[in-house]
Amino acid sequence: MIAITLLGTGSPIPSPDRAGPATLISAGEEHYLVDAGRGVLMRLAAAGLGAPNLSAVLITHLHSDHITDLNDVITTRWVMTFVPTPLTIVGPVGTKAVVEHIMASLEPDMAYRIAHHHDLDAPPQVDVIEVTEGDVTLPGDVRITCAQTDHKPVEPSVGFRFEHDGVAVVAAGDTVPCPGLDSLCDGADALVHTVIRKDIIANVPMQRIKDTLDYHSSPEEAAQTAARGGVGTLVLTHYVPPIPTGGSGDDWKALTADHFTGVVELGDDLHRIEINPVTPVPGIGVTNRMEHHEGTAHT
Ligand SMILES: [Zn+2]
Repeated sequence: MIAITLLGTGSPIPSPDRAGPATLISAGEEHYLVDAGRGVLMRLAAAGLGAPNLSAVLITHLHSDHITDLNDVITTRWVMTFVPTPLTIVGPVGTKAVVEHIMASLEPDMAYRIAHHHDLDAPPQVDVIEVTEGDVTLPGDVRITCAQTDHKPVEPSVGFRFEHDGVAVVAAGDTVPCPGLDSLCDGADALVHTVIRKDIIANVPMQRIKDTLDYHSSPEEAAQTAARGGVGTLVLTHYVPPIPTGGSGDDWKALTADHFTGVVELGDDLHRIEINPVTPVPGIGVTNRMEHHEGTAHT
């Protein structure tokens, strides 16, 4: 089983009850944080975890809303662990430079804490792995692969595929439909995809808002990507404009219906979905067993 927890379903536009883009992928003993948007550690705490529990942070691209709280993850991991516990950060080329700048911005804080706490005698240990495509080698028994996505002019950007216990889950990040994402989705059980409502955004009389149309997917396009890959469950997140809190999102789901016949999931922050191995059903073929649990966002 792989569990998907939508830690943050918001976007760059601040919302009182939707944190910034972040998704938790839990597989066996491992917990992977995909992107680290606004409020990520508050949501992680609500999910019963903290920065010390993270196996790695995987960044899909370097847009600010996906990395705003990466500094918080680095610092909190450091001060909440009592033996040196390096934080592994995986991301596209350019991640190393961004993390070096974050570390530079934290230098005064590191100096204060090292001077004040006798048992804290070294700065945070951060290992950055820059990836382009193929296997991402990390400890543990979860297979992780990545491929280039298309979020131009934001380049490079990547998506990730997690495989464990006979289940494959893809985290796409921000992208338009593209061959790299198709390769990750091929035969996957679930796809977590950021989306915007192009039918609404196209009518907003502000060019800066309309500019977002050309480098995101709509629910319809995400559904087409999921269908091409034979994906069982499509999980939509990063709602622009925001779905009213507690809303069904049925209008979003309806947009996928002409393109995708699988399960569509969306919800408030902390919405959790368990993806179970496909089970052969004699005489019928196979079926995806899926359970979902409604989360409660604490704001
Ligand atoms: Zn982006």
